[in-house]
Amino acid sequence: MTRYVVGIDLGGTKIATCLMDEEGCIVKKIILPTLASEGPEAVIGRMNASVYEVMKQAKVDRKSILAVGVGSPGPMDSEKGIIKNPPNLPGWIQIPLKNILWDEFKLPIALENDANAAALGENLYGSGKSAKNFMYITVSTGIGGGVVVNGKLFKGANGNAAEIGHTTINFQGPRCGCGNMGCWEAYASGSALARFAGEGIKNGRKTAITEIACDENIKAEHVFTAAKQGDDYAKELVDREGYYLGVGLANMINSFNPDSIAIGGGVTNEWDLFSDRMLEVMEERALKANLENLKVIKATLGSDVGIMGAAAAAWEICRINNE
Ligand SMILES: [Zn+2]
Repeated sequence: MTRYVVGIDLGGTKIATCLMDEEGCIVKKIILPTLASEGPEAVIGRMNASVYEVMKQAKVDRKSILAVGVGSPGPMDSEKGIIKNPPNLPGWIQIPLKNILWDEFKLPIALENDANAAALGENLYGSGKSAKNFMYITVSTGIGGGVVVNGKLFKGANGNAAEIGHTTINFQGPRCGCGNMGCWEAYASGSALARFAGEGIKNGRKTAITEIACDENIKAEHVFTAAKQGDDYAKELVDREGYYLGVGLANMINSFNPDSIAIGGGVTNEWDLFSDRMLEVMEERALKANLENLKVIKATLGSDVGIMGAAAAAWEICRINNE
């Protein structure tokens, strides 16, 4: 009998759910809107419905399913399975998601911070295959990450390890969404790139970014588009993006000494524009011994990283339960 797990990627705007087999193949995948403003009960109802729907579409019954894995925004207590109060899930305060899903499915439930789950996914099925000491970094509106040490996800005391976007790179830097100042994410995320562009324009920099953004708020994509058109200011901003990423990467390399780092997230769609600068700064700043045998690559799972990570967490809990 083929056995499966379910992976659920719970996000602020969508719930993606998959059925994965033992070979790591996604047999079925569906996406529902989160409609987060309706609150936890309605959202969990849609998560449950999505699980039944993938089973139905794949014609797989409940007996063939071994576990359910969930990747969710933090903060959380991964061990106890409690979601604390994620900024993009309004009304979720101390929600015992693991227990709620157990009551529904009577299956082992794994709950991981989404970036940690993504690290597991990339390590098992993507760019980090065979890396024993692996790090996954996502650069999009924020910066997040996950660390695998000796083949195991490094969770920290309550599942919130590797909040690497909130490591300080300038102690007098701009205020970050977390309340601290000068976080890596406040310098090198996609939102930071857009913010820097806006500041420059406000100070009188003439740039094609203004026309490209038109009446919209400036986004990282607009900066990248202008840079590809040869716009000087946009090229300067993208160069700085690579610089700030390299500075933070050196911190990570010195802290964790990984053998492989995979970088994903929306900003990496433009990998070729900033990666040379990023790697140059990283090599300048990291300890030489920690750079030996280090591979830094673009993550390969793309938009499936969330569900594959959640499913990887489900396989992981099966493995632990069998020990
Ligand atoms: Zn921060």
